[in-house]
Amino acid sequence: MKKKKTTSQAPAIAYAIAAKDLAAHLFQVTLTVQAPAADGQVLALPAWIPGSYMIREFSRNIVQIRAEADGRAVPLTKLDKHSWQAPPVTGPLVVVYDVYAWDLSVRAAHLDQTHGFFNGTSVFLRVLGQEDVPHVVDIRQPEHEAARAWRVATALPELKARRYGFGTYVAADYDELIDSPVEMGDFALATFTAHGVPHDVVVTGRVPNLDLERLCADLKAICETQVAFFEPKTKQAPMDRYVFMTLAVGDGYGGLEHRASTALICARADLPTTAQRGKDRSEGYVKFLGLCSHEYFHTWNVKRIKPAVFAPYDLQVENYTPLLWLFEGFTSYYDDLFLVRSGMITEQQYYKMLGKAVGGVLRGAGRTRQSVADSSFDAWGKYYRQDENAPNAIVSYYAKGSLIGLALDLTIRTKTAGKRSLDDIMLALWQRYGRDFYPDGRRGVTPGDVEALFDEISGMKLKPFFEKYIRGTEDVPLAKLLAPFGVKYTDERKGDKPSLDANIGREGADCKLSAVHEGGAAHRAGLSAGDLLVAIDGLRVTGNPSNLEGLLGRYKVGDTVQVHAFRRDELMTFAVQLQGDRVPGITLAIDTARKLDVVRPTMARPTMPRPALPRARGG
Ligand SMILES: [Zn+2]
Repeated sequence: MKKKKTTSQAPAIAYAIAAKDLAAHLFQVTLTVQAPAADGQVLALPAWIPGSYMIREFSRNIVQIRAEADGRAVPLTKLDKHSWQAPPVTGPLVVVYDVYAWDLSVRAAHLDQTHGFFNGTSVFLRVLGQEDVPHVVDIRQPEHEAARAWRVATALPELKARRYGFGTYVAADYDELIDSPVEMGDFALATFTAHGVPHDVVVTGRVPNLDLERLCADLKAICETQVAFFEPKTKQAPMDRYVFMTLAVGDGYGGLEHRASTALICARADLPTTAQRGKDRSEGYVKFLGLCSHEYFHTWNVKRIKPAVFAPYDLQVENYTPLLWLFEGFTSYYDDLFLVRSGMITEQQYYKMLGKAVGGVLRGAGRTRQSVADSSFDAWGKYYRQDENAPNAIVSYYAKGSLIGLALDLTIRTKTAGKRSLDDIMLALWQRYGRDFYPDGRRGVTPGDVEALFDEISGMKLKPFFEKYIRGTEDVPLAKLLAPFGVKYTDERKGDKPSLDANIGREGADCKLSAVHEGGAAHRAGLSAGDLLVAIDGLRVTGNPSNLEGLLGRYKVGDTVQVHAFRRDELMTFAVQLQGDRVPGITLAIDTARKLDVVRPTMARPTMPRPALPRARGG
């Protein structure tokens, strides 16, 4: 809980950010504190970025830092890994520091001759005690030849700059400053409006014949459907403008949500081209639209409806919440659902994607060991720090969280004969916690609030559901829940196909085990993740995906084969008794005779098709 202080007297915190050296990937930041704390101003760089729940210690990229006051150098004392203190000074304190920016992700900062990108958490020191005053940023154009045509994209309001121009921008407080990433470069740009609100689509990176027109039309449909979902009467978006900033690379996928923008990274092959006009959306393009839908839904769910522990964030340490199954899982449930509701994919396509996602959750035994509540709480050390044992040890609060969203939706629709649904729960969360979050509410939701609200809105007693599927590790009974909706659930796993029950990673021409499933054939024989398969019964195993399958296909389930494998540089021999494939083959098919109509919404809301499911997105 945080009330904004009266800040009319306090001078703004001012930063200037310039590219010091594009080739060395260095930003130089100059911070001016007009009224430093009387007992010595403390400055700190966040240890993590909201939306990505891992301690990243961004201060490790501060290469050098110095301070001055009254034109004289003053010493900075290091307090801990991310904090400095200046001595008491009269007059403005000026701090100048260089930040190394060479992380090509949506979470940090990146700078070279092709573009610059930064999140405030990577580059702007927090002035302790003055977080609530306006923060002004002068974004300076690099003097380099390569940057002559560069423009600026950010959701920050301009103070002394033209839209897309270099110059001065302003944030109401530090929280807004670090929630507004900045892209600079010679990017492609198009704008559409969604229910009257301008949305920029910014694409950095070479994408020959990018079809921005199609991208804008599709995003407009998705955005308008979501805006109308949360505000069916007024169609009022929660922000004045929105920016999709996209970095197109050879291979990449991820996104991070912000209150009025999102930073995305995608494979350029996933973006639509003018040559594909009039053709069906490709699988990769649908995946990209799903990512956009996911991050956009976060505008409401996690950027405004928030866990109480995020209001405000403590940026120096882990912020533990058992609720990421709601904030990430439900967002993952609704992302693809909004692709159906906005007409981007058909119901058939949707159920195909859903079946795949269900199979992904059922694949790992970790789901029997960790609940989604625990997975949420431990995100910092487990989900975000996965190793080769992850399939055996953890469950994804994204993937299983989305199945919980689906299961709750189906349960409520069934029990209320279609009068209520998960939509009503999201709307109640929005109306009570999200709508007035900025600028003055800032009240988050506790686990107790969530459970009480679910009961109240559904008119049900959902405690047993929480105990079994959210705090417990039971699989949600989707086959049973989907049946009344005319959706047939089948598991066609290939039990007669001989398998090692391990995940395979290719390494050049070699075949490497990337994960070994506990209780499976490879595990029982003593093989480990990281082992390089050399031969099966004396015949070479290669990195070609069909090679191993072909070799194993010569045997029956139950046969024992001799496997040669390198563990590091030591050749080892294993007797592996082959087992039936345990990879779930979930298919969901729409039955023609539907008993309960889930195509219609449960309240006075625009007509929308059925429920949906997800997968892990970047943030
Ligand atoms: Zn997310």
